[in-house]
Amino acid sequence: MKPIKLMKEIMSDIASVIYPNICIGCGSIMPFGSGMMCDKCMAEFCDKHNDRCPVCGRIIYHRGKCRGCNSEKLYFDRGHSLFEYKDSVRNAVLRCKYKNMKYIGRYFGELMADYAENNGMGGFDIVTAVPLHKNRLRQRGYNQSEIPAVMVASRLGTPCAAVLERVVDTKPQNSLSREERLRNIRRAFAVKDKEAIKGKNILLIDDIYTTGATVNECAKVLKKNGAARVEFLTLSCRAED
Ligand SMILES: [Zn+2]
Ligand SMILES: [Zn+2]
Repeated sequence: MKPIKLMKEIMSDIASVIYPNICIGCGSIMPFGSGMMCDKCMAEFCDKHNDRCPVCGRIIYHRGKCRGCNSEKLYFDRGHSLFEYKDSVRNAVLRCKYKNMKYIGRYFGELMADYAENNGMGGFDIVTAVPLHKNRLRQRGYNQSEIPAVMVASRLGTPCAAVLERVVDTKPQNSLSREERLRNIRRAFAVKDKEAIKGKNILLIDDIYTTGATVNECAKVLKKNGAARVEFLTLSCRAED
């Protein structure tokens, strides 16, 4: 081995001990300079399932719309999600949310901005993140959906604005059943400035699309206050069971 190459490898080993590269999916330590994910997690992130609900973008295993879009009153016009919410994707989302790892949010933002651009998403007047209640925001320090919202907005050349606020400090949705989620999230959001959204096309950004209750409630409030069109883009979605 050439001395320079050997030196680089030694430096890399030292650096990985001092400042280890942790895979955002599984938490394993990777060689310095490996990027954000190990090969195994990268393969899971990229494992694309192509059958999607044509309305909300949920992964489905049959033709036509998903059950939720067939049975519920929807207020959004169209939804898109990048990945299935499982395994390494799920771990990475939880790390970003609860471990204050903002760089994961920036990585998600990059992926979501690429998706929006590559899939011809556009025609929006405002990009906005699903807001956190101020108590949750204080506790967590930041809104994990705001980082991708700013990045997607910038890529699409659209202003990013906080047009919604969360007026009820709801229980975390992940501990609740479907019916409880719907009840829990009802009237949780309000529009900050009605004039700002009147006749506007709005793109909502969130991290996960599970039952759809949160995104649909945001869309409902936006539409009832005069928004013309509401689409959403989430990093991940739960597949239909
Ligand atoms: Zn990994
Ligand atoms: Zn659907």
